[in-house]
Amino acid sequence: LASGERRERSTFEIGGRLVGGDHFAMIAGPCTVESREQLLSSADAMLAAGATMFRGGAYKPRTSPYAFHGLGEDGLRLLAEAKERTGLPIVTELMDVRDVEAVAEVADVIQIGARNMQNYTLLTEIGRSGVPALLKRGLSATLDELLNASEYILKEGNEKVLLCERGIRTFETAYRFTLDLTAIPVLKELTHLPVIVDPSHAAGRRALVEPLSLAAAAVGADGIIVEVHPDPDNAVCDGPQQLRNDDFPDYLRKVEQAARIA
Ligand code: PEP
Ligand code: MN
Repeated sequence: LASGERRERSTFEIGGRLVGGDHFAMIAGPCTVESREQLLSSADAMLAAGATMFRGGAYKPRTSPYAFHGLGEDGLRLLAEAKERTGLPIVTELMDVRDVEAVAEVADVIQIGARNMQNYTLLTEIGRSGVPALLKRGLSATLDELLNASEYILKEGNEKVLLCERGIRTFETAYRFTLDLTAIPVLKELTHLPVIVDPSHAAGRRALVEPLSLAAAAVGADGIIVEVHPDPDNAVCDGPQQLRNDDFPDYLRKVEQAARIA
């Protein structure tokens, strides 16, 4: 179902926005929902700048079990409020099949994190939910494994799947992950599904986010999912990589220009 041989490039509607084909998607917002004030000021800033969708995690996959794991249902309620207020479609992660109904109620797009790319029961449930999915490539997953993971969602009749390159493990230690830019044109040969890029988690630091985003747009990415925070220095997680709300409008303008040239 994911194969590009069978059909034209997919374009589909998510919360009133078109994704894929000529429609470049800018999904932006904080790593995680921290508070009402933080979330709503982020949503207002993303709307004002012209983002396509708003991201924010209520359930966070963290390397340490002792780290902050998100506000859970309180976070989902705040995301619902942000959507009500701005009209921006919400992209948020589902980590546990037990939360699928609660997340599906708020999410316009359910994110499957890199660490859950091969959680097949989760993929099947998201497929059955009918909510559009954003499937991140696993830290060490091949493109074939990514496409097979997408197949678990598609085979349930859910055709709205966005694939996301977010950096993979290599021998390099100078930055967090290696953004696999080659994956974008190759995936576009292999599948009709839209392919987006997450420069934030690949880079791990703010200064790299803009150059990687421009490169992603130049190689034909159908969109970007980027972390932006009102006060990254005091962010609960991923502070060093989050762009500042104030820098976002200029960043967005440059990335959209690169996408147009491509
Ligand atoms: C995220 O987008 O918040 C995230 C945790 O990303 P990843 O699963 O790619 O690490
Ligand atoms: Mn993050």
